[in-house]
Amino acid sequence: MTEIHAQPPEPPTLASRPRSRAAHARACRSLVGGVNSPVRAFGAVGGVPVTVARASGAHVEDIDGNRYIDFVGSWGPAIVGHAHAEVVDAVRRAAERGLSFGAPSEAETELAELVLSALPGHDRVRFVNSGTEACMSAVRLARAATGREFVIKFAGNYHGHADAMLVEAGSGAATHGVPTSPGVSRDIARATLTCHFNDPNSVAEMFGKHPDQIAAVLVEPVAGNMGLVRPDDAFLPSLRDLCNRHGALLVFDEVMTGFRVAWGGYQNVCGVRPDLTCLGKVVGGGMPAAAYAGPAILMDQVSPSGPVYQAGTLSGNPVAMAAGLATLQLCRQPGFYERLGRRADAVADGLAAIASRRGIPLQTSAIGGMLGVTFAERPVRNFEDAKSGNHDRFAAFFHAMLERGVWLPPSSYEAWFISAAHTDPDVERTLAAVEDALGAVA
Ligand code: PLP
Repeated sequence: MTEIHAQPPEPPTLASRPRSRAAHARACRSLVGGVNSPVRAFGAVGGVPVTVARASGAHVEDIDGNRYIDFVGSWGPAIVGHAHAEVVDAVRRAAERGLSFGAPSEAETELAELVLSALPGHDRVRFVNSGTEACMSAVRLARAATGREFVIKFAGNYHGHADAMLVEAGSGAATHGVPTSPGVSRDIARATLTCHFNDPNSVAEMFGKHPDQIAAVLVEPVAGNMGLVRPDDAFLPSLRDLCNRHGALLVFDEVMTGFRVAWGGYQNVCGVRPDLTCLGKVVGGGMPAAAYAGPAILMDQVSPSGPVYQAGTLSGNPVAMAAGLATLQLCRQPGFYERLGRRADAVADGLAAIASRRGIPLQTSAIGGMLGVTFAERPVRNFEDAKSGNHDRFAAFFHAMLERGVWLPPSSYEAWFISAAHTDPDVERTLAAVEDALGAVA
């Protein structure tokens, strides 16, 4: 058995962030919980959220002047690093021509062509403003195209906060949807069926229980909202096969994995072709843009070509399109994803080695520019495994890393994101901080 090296906690090495404390106290008086999206509030790890002043490359600086190596990456979009000169320049040039037209612009078509060139079998794309909208709209289209009501999702997959997607699984057997949030109509939640990730049998059973009623199976092909959970080799092909047999659509939510784990998305790694793809994060290059895409026969059912209504005042916003285009052009350069993957592997493998030396049960995984880290004995294959992780230990680790200048997502259910701007020295400094922080939390 490996010896556990118990060490006293290190004293904090960064300032106690008085300005962040004051800024958060002020924010709490006018913003709900002091934030505009819940996970930013540090609810899962405790403490006061850090208020950001600026971000550049792989680094974030807070309003107290502390600098951190960033593994949040704005929750995914910052794949080429924060404020990349070419992206900022494209945004500046677009902004000078006008912030929003409410009319077509050439940038929309240019980004559409680039996105579609990366997604085999997809002929049309519709840009929207958020991943939530993309998933909500794809589900609406799937229902319209099949004339069916029910949608299957997986426990621990997140598809944004539209009512139909805010449904959690009951533990144990797959169940009819129960709303995760007050305010979600029970009738809407009932049409969302929850199965278990990496368990095609749970999906086959659900198709058996609801013959000819299931419009779509919606899945994060690599789950990034319960740590990072890779699909077993047979999982996605089984979903494709079940959807084919039962006349349902397979929808890949690649909001997180799209253009992040590979050019296009995970569908180009696994070779399984979905009927519809949802994108977000990277395609907007840090500006509010997302998309859903598919073959003409489906997408042409969307308004104005077809009857399925979906619209947006700011959809295809020219500044967001410029940021997305500049970002994707950088991602398209040869070797981009290989370099990103090597960096993510170096962090994941380094973390696993340090934890193993210290006898701390830790599961890590990485793909492309994403990483997952769970303090658990067993590899994480589904939401139950993710829940069984030691979340208190993660909270202590999170704070120990923050004090050592490394900014991690403030929850063990969130994936970490690495960018092309992370350098070998950033990785070395991160692992030195891990060595120290794991010593402190052991
Ligand atoms: N789908 C996935 C897989 C996500 O990870 C997210 C957000 O993290 C969404 C959808 C929702 O995207 P947004 O936050 O842009 O609404």
